[in-house]
Amino acid sequence: MKCIRCNNTDPKLFAYDQGVWYCRQCVRFGRMDLGQEAKSTICKNKPKKVRPDLKFALTPLQEEASQKALSHLKKGKNVFVYAATGAGKTEICYASICDYLRQGKKIGFAISRRQVVLEITQRLREVFPSLKIVEVCQGYTSDLDGDIIVCTIHQLYRYPKAFDLLILDEVDAFPYAGNHILKQFVEQACCGQQLCLSATIDPALKKEIDEHKYEVVSLFQRPHKKPLIVPKVYTLPIMFQYFAIYRLCKKFHVQDKQTIVFVPRKKDTSLFCFLLRRFGAHPIHSMIENKDEIMEQFRKKRYSVLISTTLLERGITIPGVQVIVFRADHPVFSNASLIQIFGRVGRKFTEPYGEGVCLCQRKTKEIQTCVSTIEWMNQHAKYV
Ligand SMILES: [Zn+2]
Repeated sequence: MKCIRCNNTDPKLFAYDQGVWYCRQCVRFGRMDLGQEAKSTICKNKPKKVRPDLKFALTPLQEEASQKALSHLKKGKNVFVYAATGAGKTEICYASICDYLRQGKKIGFAISRRQVVLEITQRLREVFPSLKIVEVCQGYTSDLDGDIIVCTIHQLYRYPKAFDLLILDEVDAFPYAGNHILKQFVEQACCGQQLCLSATIDPALKKEIDEHKYEVVSLFQRPHKKPLIVPKVYTLPIMFQYFAIYRLCKKFHVQDKQTIVFVPRKKDTSLFCFLLRRFGAHPIHSMIENKDEIMEQFRKKRYSVLISTTLLERGITIPGVQVIVFRADHPVFSNASLIQIFGRVGRKFTEPYGEGVCLCQRKTKEIQTCVSTIEWMNQHAKYV
């Protein structure tokens, strides 16, 4: 017995109901009966000639990386784009998107987080105004077909063998990393090539790269050509970390800069909100309901300081933001997570500099790897 959707072969994970066996492992995505064929309801694309409508031309390095990725894909290889935070990894995909569309092929863009699905859809609509681009995620499941389908990885179960090009963003992020069911959804949704993107590599991904599952294309230079911000690491007892954060927030406040303080646990957010109340500090974490509204207010500079768990480690760009990590030696902060966190600083052309401060009681291996990886990327920024 084998489920064609999630590849489950464990007899204990099949159930018998009215004459048919079905898979229990993936039943929350709708029942899959044994022997039932996986059918997707989407239509084939017609060949379309499109060009991306860009506000800024790609930098020569972005252009080179785009062409490299496309040439690997054309040879039928899967590609992993290893790009520094803020280097513009979405832009690297445009050349490949255009090439596949020209051949009338179907493109999927799958991302772990719903919020990023909505953002990427918006961006693609601006860049390709003549295409039908649909978002498919929680709250958006009425229209499932378009020239490009942007969805959460969970939603890929709807698209068996649908995509000739499947772009996967943040492949090493929760909940995709280490999740076998989602991994199977990806495998069964893609009937052509995978184009994976991330600024960080976790051990599982490293193993797949070593096994030559992907051709690696790297891009470590941000479009403004300034180096990535290397965090300053201070080892301090926890009490002194509180003082340090107060003083730093005060300094940034005087400079009219906004700050995100990253904390390891949800319960840390309320204490910091009290401590930093005179700077208009506001908490944000997964259990807070009006997250979109809080981000909106922060973007409008209604708050000077945001106290966040790792929730905001990826996918957000706030011009001119400074970043502090409290208790960076806590196990929730992996080196990938820290690289993403400090990658929030200096992303914009108008604000390419900034400060990243890493406070800890001891300098863990994760912190050291974060610092050395960022330094290594800066040294290699001129190469593709
Ligand atoms: Zn299954």
